[in-house]
Amino acid sequence: MTSDRSNKIRKPPHLLPTKQRTILLVDDSEVDRVIYQRYLKKSREYDYHFIEAETGKAALEIYPNVLPDLVLLDYFLPDINGLEWIERWQQKYNKNPCPVIILTGQGNDNIAEQFIKLGAADYLIKDQITSDRLNFSVYKELIRQEEKQKFTQTIQCQNEQLLEVNRLLKDQMNCGENADCLLRNNEEKLHCAVFNAPIPVLVHAEDGEILHVNQTWTELSGYTIEDIPTTAEWTQKAYGNKQGTVKSWIDRLYELNQRVDEGEFKIRTADGQVRIWNFSSAPLGKLLDGRRLVISCAKDVTEIKQAKMALQESEIHFRKTFEQAAVGMAHVAPNGKWLLVNQKLCQIVGYSQEELREKTFQEMTHPDDVEPDLEYVRQILAGEITSYSMEKRYIRKDKSPVWVTLTVSLFKSKTGEPEYFICVIEDINERKNIELSQQQALKRLANLHQIDKAIIEAQKPQAIAKIAINNIQYFLPACQRASIVTFNSEHRAATILGTQGRAEQKTPKKLETTLDIWQDLINRLQESEQNYVVAYLSQLPKLSAAIPSLATSGLDCFICFSLKAQNKLLGIFKLWVEDVEVVTPEQLAIIEEISVQVAIAIQQANLIQADQNYALNLEKKVQERTAQIEEINKELKAFSYSISHDLKAPLRAIQGFAVALQEDYAENLDDLGQEYASRLVASAEQMEKLIQDLLAYSRLSRTEIHKKPVNLTSVVNKALEDLEIAMTDVQPEITIEKPLLNVLGNRTILQQIVNNLLSNALKFTSAKVKPQIHIWTEEYPENFVRLWIEDKGIGIEAQHQERIFEVFERLHGNEAYPGTGIGLAIVKKGVERLGGRLGVKSEVNRGSRFWVELPGVEG
Ligand code: ADP
Repeated sequence: MTSDRSNKIRKPPHLLPTKQRTILLVDDSEVDRVIYQRYLKKSREYDYHFIEAETGKAALEIYPNVLPDLVLLDYFLPDINGLEWIERWQQKYNKNPCPVIILTGQGNDNIAEQFIKLGAADYLIKDQITSDRLNFSVYKELIRQEEKQKFTQTIQCQNEQLLEVNRLLKDQMNCGENADCLLRNNEEKLHCAVFNAPIPVLVHAEDGEILHVNQTWTELSGYTIEDIPTTAEWTQKAYGNKQGTVKSWIDRLYELNQRVDEGEFKIRTADGQVRIWNFSSAPLGKLLDGRRLVISCAKDVTEIKQAKMALQESEIHFRKTFEQAAVGMAHVAPNGKWLLVNQKLCQIVGYSQEELREKTFQEMTHPDDVEPDLEYVRQILAGEITSYSMEKRYIRKDKSPVWVTLTVSLFKSKTGEPEYFICVIEDINERKNIELSQQQALKRLANLHQIDKAIIEAQKPQAIAKIAINNIQYFLPACQRASIVTFNSEHRAATILGTQGRAEQKTPKKLETTLDIWQDLINRLQESEQNYVVAYLSQLPKLSAAIPSLATSGLDCFICFSLKAQNKLLGIFKLWVEDVEVVTPEQLAIIEEISVQVAIAIQQANLIQADQNYALNLEKKVQERTAQIEEINKELKAFSYSISHDLKAPLRAIQGFAVALQEDYAENLDDLGQEYASRLVASAEQMEKLIQDLLAYSRLSRTEIHKKPVNLTSVVNKALEDLEIAMTDVQPEITIEKPLLNVLGNRTILQQIVNNLLSNALKFTSAKVKPQIHIWTEEYPENFVRLWIEDKGIGIEAQHQERIFEVFERLHGNEAYPGTGIGLAIVKKGVERLGGRLGVKSEVNRGSRFWVELPGVEG
């Protein structure tokens, strides 16, 4: 069946191209025929007129009536295949009258090669045919055909000129006496024309003799007339083993009565090269001896042919590269329509090539990425940039997003008009997903860290529970309810610290329950090898009975994490979910981590609470003690007051009356009476001294002390002055290493200290010996100054050296060495109040060295 449907697809008149061409479209698929016509109707150069044929035979039959400019031939025809079709067509219609483009279902280098050998102009793989591709191929072949025709016309023109010359020669031969001369003359002209023609020309006679070989022929083939005197010699030299075929072809030429285009032949030149010549031959009349002549002209098309082959190869190569590229490649129209897409791009986006060509890149781009992409397109069309590269998402056919790196450059026509974008699309979905999941993991980690920090910072178990529960939704969106319960095994009690989600306990107070209702869970957690168990409320009757709000909430399944610290189960973290299968191992690991932090924080909070309780108790005790001490002090003050006032008054009375007795009634008293009276006076004096010392000691404990630098030399001098009376009796030997160092202290207290030590040094010396006293100061570490007072007295036994600093501790009776036993106690109390230390080094009968260490004066 043949038909002409070209009238059905018309372009607007102003777009109609001027050149008209007829195309014979041989294809059994009506759909394909329609598509190719649609494609070709887009041509800007030609207005195509289509003749369709469904079978090879139909095409061969209509061929002479149509005489198309080009044949588009399907390889798989129902009756014969494309190769057979071309062979029959060439046999029937004399070589290659017009270009044939083969359309094949599948690409195959072998078939491609056979077609090229047979002289097919091009072959296209049906799957890859686009409007551009088809138009380009047809356009290219038509242009080539036109050039060939122009060339043939040139040859024909030259042949006609030669024939005219020949005709004239013949005419002249037939006329009169000068015919011979004219003939010779014309023969010379013919020879000259042939010889100088710019294309190879050969004139040969039917017996095989070669009469003329022109200069171009010799230049291109390397053979002179001497090398090839006959066509047999020529075919043998130029065609090798194909000489027979060519020779018989040449022999047929003499039968022709018009020009014939023989087509292309491969010839071997004298120097061994293979060149392709396109021959045309024409009859040149007869020689005088009756032999028919033929003139054969050729065009050397070797370079053109090679260029064509190279072009075809590079096209095949390009097509393969484009098709088999490991990245997606595409041509996209300036309006966004996909023009040409490769297989890889189809794989990336999940659309077939046909489906893609119906779409624009905008409608396939993720909504968030359309704007940035269009902005780049604007810039590239405006010439602000020459190319761009961006990461973006396409939406696959199955609606899932896919990340790609898109690199785009613009192809412009010779006039600078944008033709199409060249796009390279690399699938980076996997890398991008890894990147995104890493980012999510980092974000999760940061959140986890925040929670950890908040948990650790919270000080009360309830606050800790609240933070953990509030944040758990972020890590486990499927969580319907979360709660934290702590246990107190000692009191067999449990506390619900907090809940959130369904059946949430709104009361802010802690909810106490017995431990028994949790015991099943506790047992299961302790048996489990993991830190959690999956449990169902329906299987825990005690729990659902004890907390009715839970039982009516409709919740059943929960994951129960243990809150353990130092191997002790402090409580549980319960997370209720509809389906435990939706919880991923990663989520379980995160919640486990949070549970550990919660457990540590709760334990810490408990310890802090215990510490705080302990501190509170301690403070209470201190307050009690302080109150007691204050009470004692008060009593002591009252006691001192009573001593100073109440005791001193009767004492003064005793002293006064005893002295009155001695003075006023001395003559009335016998010796014994007088002795009693003096003992009374002495006892009263002793008691007064005792009271004074006790008051001094008591004052030392109570008075507020202000410290300032004190000159020890002046203190010692004053003490010597104070003790002058004592010294007049014994005349002691006193050495002072002056100047003594200054100390930070209180003048009054220091005076009392030095007075007491010096008086002891004088006092505790054997009556027979003259007292020897040595006084000096020394610097000690940490800016302390030590004052030494050394005597050569009776000394102190080692076992008493500590207790003599206590109140009323005396080593001797009052008769041997009078005293109150308070002097050294005052010294000790005074030194302590000044922030110093004191001590003694002593040996019996060799003397004692008392030392007092006080803060020195800085600088
Ligand atoms: P008192 O001197 O009034 O007895 P103190 O408190 O001053 O009381 O001294 C206590 C006791 O320490 C003295 O009774 C004495 O036995 C002993 N004692 C103090 N100073 C010396 C000293 N320099 N040499 C020997 N014994 C001393």
